[in-house]
Amino acid sequence: MDGQHPEISGLRQNLDEVDHEIVRLIAQRFSIVAAIAQAKEQGAAGIRDASREQRVLAGVEAAATELGVSASLVRRIFRELISDSVAQQASHLSGDRGGRVRVAFQGAAHGDSYAAARKYLAGRGLDGDLTGYRTFRAAVDALLARDADLAVLPIENTTAGSINEVYGLLREHDLFIVGEETWKVDYCLAGLREVPLPAVSRIVSDPHGLEQCSQFLRSVPQAQQAICSGTSDAMRAVADGGDPAVAAIGSPEAAAAHGLAVLRHDIADAAENYTRFVVLSASPAPVDTRIPCKTSLILATRHEEGALLRCLDVLSGSGHSLTKLESRPRPGRPWEYLFFLDFEGNVGDPRTAAALDELRSAALYVKVLGSYPAKALHTQAHAGDVPGVAARMSPAEELEAVASAPPPARRTGQYKLVTRSARNADTVIRVGDTLIGGGGFVVMAGPCSVESAEQIEATARFVRDHGAHVLRGGVFKPRTSPYAFSGLGWAGLDLLVAAGRQAGLPVVTEVMAVDQVQRMAGVADILQVGARNMQNFDLLREIGKVDCPVLLKRGLSSTVDEWLAAAEYVAAQGNQQVILCERGIRTFESATRNTLDLSAVVVVRERSHLPVIVDPSHGTGARRYVAPMAWAARAAGAHGLLVEVHPSPADALSDADQSLSFSEFAALMHGLAAIPGSPVLPASPGNHLAQHAGAGTMGA
Ligand code: PEP
Ligand code: MN
Repeated sequence: MDGQHPEISGLRQNLDEVDHEIVRLIAQRFSIVAAIAQAKEQGAAGIRDASREQRVLAGVEAAATELGVSASLVRRIFRELISDSVAQQASHLSGDRGGRVRVAFQGAAHGDSYAAARKYLAGRGLDGDLTGYRTFRAAVDALLARDADLAVLPIENTTAGSINEVYGLLREHDLFIVGEETWKVDYCLAGLREVPLPAVSRIVSDPHGLEQCSQFLRSVPQAQQAICSGTSDAMRAVADGGDPAVAAIGSPEAAAAHGLAVLRHDIADAAENYTRFVVLSASPAPVDTRIPCKTSLILATRHEEGALLRCLDVLSGSGHSLTKLESRPRPGRPWEYLFFLDFEGNVGDPRTAAALDELRSAALYVKVLGSYPAKALHTQAHAGDVPGVAARMSPAEELEAVASAPPPARRTGQYKLVTRSARNADTVIRVGDTLIGGGGFVVMAGPCSVESAEQIEATARFVRDHGAHVLRGGVFKPRTSPYAFSGLGWAGLDLLVAAGRQAGLPVVTEVMAVDQVQRMAGVADILQVGARNMQNFDLLREIGKVDCPVLLKRGLSSTVDEWLAAAEYVAAQGNQQVILCERGIRTFESATRNTLDLSAVVVVRERSHLPVIVDPSHGTGARRYVAPMAWAARAAGAHGLLVEVHPSPADALSDADQSLSFSEFAALMHGLAAIPGSPVLPASPGNHLAQHAGAGTMGA
């Protein structure tokens, strides 16, 4: 054979046979693994068994040493085989059976996002139609419009840190993380053809590319830097430009795709440079609890000392280890923060679900972004036998810890988050500089409906000057008759928000429909749920998803228990910022518009930690009864009032009979100052902020 020594060619033939035998044995190993995966499908065992893995490795190493083969070589090979088996079993349990999915990503083909999306699909045996969008937001919009099944977006880079815009999108939209992928970023400099580096006069890349190769860029000071939207676009620009003095920074794959020559490989500052991507879907995807999982969530802490620590304690105390904690500014709330957390756990696991319940009651706002198979688990190589829950301890210690830990108590009943038994301290909700709940007494005042700029501006100024803390005004009005004035809608909201800003008061307004919630939460300070919507469960659920305080009015004929169960609907979605409002109920009594149930204030304060305020305007329907009932509410221990005030009540387009004139409002506020707020059962000694709440409210 082409002049080779016959002995060598014979040996090569032997070698080929051995190689084929190795591959055949690997295939045989895989089919045994598949059979194990099938068997595990019926059982509850986790797919990662660290002590079994250790035994396998020790066994093959011993065999290697006996046969005179390098133990470390054999260890490396078997680590690869084991990790592949685990991936196989995970994909079996996930029910991945191939198929075609539409995937949105940001950037152009052959960029890092494209490569990460391809890697993610390949790992799950899926085929994909990948579409690149110009911005992260456009990729998310495609997902929300159902033009894509998944979106793959970068969330953090080991050199450059977090990608804020993607965090913002996760906060704003109803998106779920269903997977993650990591991609090793490999930057090279590429040009039209080989030229020496000093001949390069201009270098194009995206901001990340330029930032991550800053040391290299300092070594070519003559080259001007130019920014474009993606590294793949940079490569295309160089290819199309025809100037060999212009070069681009991007991946070698993108360089090859555009027919460019690599002038220098590996130019990133950090040799080990990875980007972590999140895989997003418009609906959550449950994951088998035997697959090692991560859960991501967004959290706003209570306004109490040590609030973040208490939340983290809930996780660590239940054996969930934190893999990431990131703080971002809370939009519209200067110097307040939202925390983005990743921890090892699966919402499908009862222990994780119980920990999340605890967390919801420890925090003010929790948005669970999803549980998904973990890719970047730094403890994965040593993960214990306890599926879903992390192992910093050895597997044996982990098992012991889990066995000896008491099962977390799951509160049951109609409401478990808003109940007083969940929290001894009163919930305090911050709106601007005002604290609602605990001590203090908050007055929300303004017209039933926003009617004009002049009307709302004059009212805002007057009520502010007379001690109100929040400006009210309806713009979407629930009216008994379809022919009655039903509010100015979004235009009215603009007037209300502008008047509030001018006067320095936060605003509260009623939200009537599910599709108004996100938009309204972006501008109003408190979302009001009207009496007629107290059991509009879809609306309550939607409101539970936003990070915005809620004023939940009692239904016209609802019991206190039904009212608290409605509050639980909001809290169960993650938003604990619920203020209850007693506004009178339907009884046989017709002397007043409704029967203001002040006893409900005392009952609610006993049964729940949520703040409760009173609306004597709708509660009585007659302006002369408003002040006495307001004073009574304060004496009963309410945390505040909601009162209708109009510059000219006789001309009000809605609820004219019950609206106070300016002078009546001034008299009400004057009288209020003389009423002591009585501390009601149970006292809330633990609440440090509540005791100092006088800063932003009328001191109790
Ligand atoms: C309101 O406050 O404007 C209102 C409509 O109240 P309720 O839902 O209590 O009737
Ligand atoms: Mn009204």
